[in-house]
Amino acid sequence: MPDPKDPDDFDGPTTPEEDEHHARAEAARREAELELEIFDGIRSQDGGPVLPVRLKPADMFCFSCHRGVACWNECCHGADITLTPADILRLTRRLDMRPAEFLAAHAVPRDWDQAGLPVAKLRTKEDSPRRACVFLDEDDACTVYSDRPATCRYYPLGLGAFKVKDAEEQVDFHFLVKEAHCKGHDESKLQSVAEFRRDQQVEEYDAINRGWMDILMKMASWRSLGGPYGKEVSDQTKRMFYMVSTDIDALRRFVFESRFLETYMVDEKSVEELRVHDEALLQLGFDWMKNVLFNEPTISLREDVLRQAIAARREEMGGA
Ligand code: SF4
Ligand code: SF4
Repeated sequence: MPDPKDPDDFDGPTTPEEDEHHARAEAARREAELELEIFDGIRSQDGGPVLPVRLKPADMFCFSCHRGVACWNECCHGADITLTPADILRLTRRLDMRPAEFLAAHAVPRDWDQAGLPVAKLRTKEDSPRRACVFLDEDDACTVYSDRPATCRYYPLGLGAFKVKDAEEQVDFHFLVKEAHCKGHDESKLQSVAEFRRDQQVEEYDAINRGWMDILMKMASWRSLGGPYGKEVSDQTKRMFYMVSTDIDALRRFVFESRFLETYMVDEKSVEELRVHDEALLQLGFDWMKNVLFNEPTISLREDVLRQAIAARREEMGGA
């Protein structure tokens, strides 16, 4: 993979034969593009049915969750919660913890099988027989409720995405997850998907997580073809993806303390913004990962670096 600490260490520019190979591989990937469930329920082991209906924003469903339900906080035990980049930003700010400290205390890395990339999962309490969430207190209340993760907000909706054939943009969809323990479905409150999303304030999470979801989705479609352009993703690239997705401090150090800014074109105004603005830095991280993983033109090499690379490539090909 390209290493910003070593600008000579990257794959481009490509030869016409390689371009042709890439185009053929990309066409095969598009054929393999699939529907992907990003959040598919809070307790994957519960095996509750996902109703096989794609819900549109105006579609209605009955559901209400409140302290009076018989199953109050049942879903906060044995939960399988993927922490999105937006979740980690919100929770670290709330708990006044740096990401490394937060990850060590509250998260555990796991491979997200569909994409073969690592994600952070929320820990459960080790001394709890029913594996209560680390944020559930003695009174069965969520101690981080106003900053709870996106999965907790979405529940009982699942979030998925799919690509219409040959379209550039992915399309989100929702589906209803009916797990046996959840009695909220028996309540009479009727609401649309759009109203539920508004109540749960998921839009701001989706906006931050968009680039991350794009990467997971694209990796999932490459997986059936052995990885991007037929190459397996290296362990180092997986570690970089985990760093970008979970640790904004490490990403900032990487951008500002390595040769990243000598390697890639980032204008001065953006550089100042990246020093202080976590969300902007995260977007740069996603753009960089898209370039590293899929060769997408989301970030450009500086001209001098590109010239050096072209010269090195020519030499490699026998001075043509
Ligand atoms: S973060 Fe809060 S809402 Fe989510 S599982 Fe934990 S206790 Fe429950
Ligand atoms: S109604 Fe469903 S979401 Fe609400 S506490 Fe019960 S199991 Fe959890």
